[in-house]
Amino acid sequence: MNNTSPFDVIIVGSGAGGSAAAYGLTQAGYNVLMLEAGPRFNPATDYPLSNADWELSRFPLKPGSQGQYTFAPMQKLEPRWQHLRSKNTINGYLSNQETRIPSDAGYHHVRGLGGSTLQFTGESHRLHQDAMNMHSRFNVAADWPLSYQDLMPYYNQAEKLIGVAGDTHIVGRDYTGASLLPPHPFADTSRILQRGAAKLGLHWQANNRAALSHSYDGRPSCNYCHNCNRGCPRGDKGSADVTFIRRASLTNRLTIKTDLSVIKLENDGNQKISGVICGNHAGQRFSFSAPIIILACGAIETPRLLLNSADTHSPEGLGNESGQVGQHFMETLSWTLTGMSDAPLQTFKGLPADGICWDFNAPDSIPNIIGGCRFSSTTAEADLSGPVNYARRLVAGWGAEFKASMRQQFGQAVSVGAIGESLPNAGSFIDLDATTQDEHGLALAQIHSFLPDTELKRLEFMAQQCSNILQASGITEIVESYGSYDLFSSTHVFGTCRMGYDPLTSVTNPVGRSHRWQNLYICDASLFPSSGGGESPSLTIEALALRMASSL
Ligand SMILES: Cc1cc2nc3c(=O)[nH]c(=O)nc-3n(C[C@H](O)[C@H](O)[C@H](O)COP(=O)(O)OP(=O)(O)OC[C@H]3O[C@@H](n4cnc5c(N)ncnc54)[C@H](O)[C@@H]3O)c2cc1C
Ligand code: SF4
Repeated sequence: MNNTSPFDVIIVGSGAGGSAAAYGLTQAGYNVLMLEAGPRFNPATDYPLSNADWELSRFPLKPGSQGQYTFAPMQKLEPRWQHLRSKNTINGYLSNQETRIPSDAGYHHVRGLGGSTLQFTGESHRLHQDAMNMHSRFNVAADWPLSYQDLMPYYNQAEKLIGVAGDTHIVGRDYTGASLLPPHPFADTSRILQRGAAKLGLHWQANNRAALSHSYDGRPSCNYCHNCNRGCPRGDKGSADVTFIRRASLTNRLTIKTDLSVIKLENDGNQKISGVICGNHAGQRFSFSAPIIILACGAIETPRLLLNSADTHSPEGLGNESGQVGQHFMETLSWTLTGMSDAPLQTFKGLPADGICWDFNAPDSIPNIIGGCRFSSTTAEADLSGPVNYARRLVAGWGAEFKASMRQQFGQAVSVGAIGESLPNAGSFIDLDATTQDEHGLALAQIHSFLPDTELKRLEFMAQQCSNILQASGITEIVESYGSYDLFSSTHVFGTCRMGYDPLTSVTNPVGRSHRWQNLYICDASLFPSSGGGESPSLTIEALALRMASSL
């Protein structure tokens, strides 16, 4: 291609995948243009955890920092799964609908420079090796077209760059060559849960965390404020903006344009994407071109962009010749259980998700159920870091009696959470909502989500184990339980542009290049052929992006 553009590569989206690709490519000497729909966030000024009203919102909102989505009608709830309904002490059932509904959070990923990693907790997991061959072993999902060993050098590279703190002895993973920071000490929630897990013969170990246990790479260590999901004001959490993007910018080969959405990919009618068209909030249009185009908009927005880029050469959407774009959507299968301890504790502080149990993570470790799961300390992710949420959800009463209860109980909520494998099914996919458009006149992504019995059985196991762990930890007063059965609330989403060898069953080849368009790559969560047994995905997305950059 005759390139008159100053850029070698355009990356669309700056989250886990886009930022790691930008890092890898700028290190290799490429001039990269990064286009991001959302705004910039400044950790020092935008995450004001010292304000009096700090607890009232989770991650701060800015113009353009929230994506728009719609949901197709969801499945009917059934009496036989009644025990999986979400509820708490104050409100009773959290939904009074007869069907599953999106929770208040719904699909709540941040648009901004750094993408969803700005808001993420920062768990940094490698996939269990056995979770990468789900089709050949169990005839579900699809096999990864690469092995754990193929990813290993890139896992090592990403962890080192981020400054991941944690443990290298985790069942199902080879950490040869890894260089992690020392693990963080357990806060109260994990100390309590570790005792309970031990009574059940389970292993509660340090979770691998993108949070610095000592100062590193010019960033300070964590101060254990418990609020990673509100944005880390110290910049020690390994979000993409302060790690990959900062390091890529130091090369002077990265040009970043924020508040600019790519609204269409243009093609030459043959094998190449010729450029991208963008729009800003003022309605202006811009176009850019480069020899290589990389999509990293996440598992909802990447298929949306491909489908919205349909034209006479690709009437069903770009790269969608075999109808695979948007298919095999996998969501977070999750359960959270909270109990109130009798002992005086301070569970409102410490590093979120500092402890984890991997004992049921292998895909064949849950009796009679395919697909694994994991358990972790989730008091912070349950947003029990301040008094307002205690009063709204957990502690009943009025006046003097209520004040006394709050004084007695604040700091004593202990939450254990589980995340499990999410297997693709025909009822879960992303398509375009023909009736609703964004500010650029483009159809929104519509989320179709369905949980078959196989998923609900895994969820039931996760709920039962959470209960066992809390009880063994000496906590019998249950105050809240919620999960995926009646509320869609997906923090991890995957699988809508699956990678593979066969163009009939996948969208890209094993490095993420479109089977049809020779200069179009994808490097985000949409590539995943299977979800893993509850592993958090960002580190794997970053490793895939570094591998893709290396192949280029
Ligand atoms: C509350 C919460 C907690 C989480 N905790 C963890 C955790 O502990 N560990 C973990 O590994 N993962 C966690 N995750 C998930 C993790 O953040 C995501 O899986 C990961 O960031 C996905 O990376 P991505 O590159 O696929 O997409 P994203 O990080 O979502 O990035 C996509 C980017 O593309 C931009 N974009 C979209 N469309 C366009 C367009 N048309 N033009 C230009 N830009 C566009 C978006 O604005 C966004 O910035 C969490 C998520 C949430 C919401
Ligand atoms: S707990 Fe640590 S990593 Fe999380 S926001 Fe606070 S200082 Fe940052």
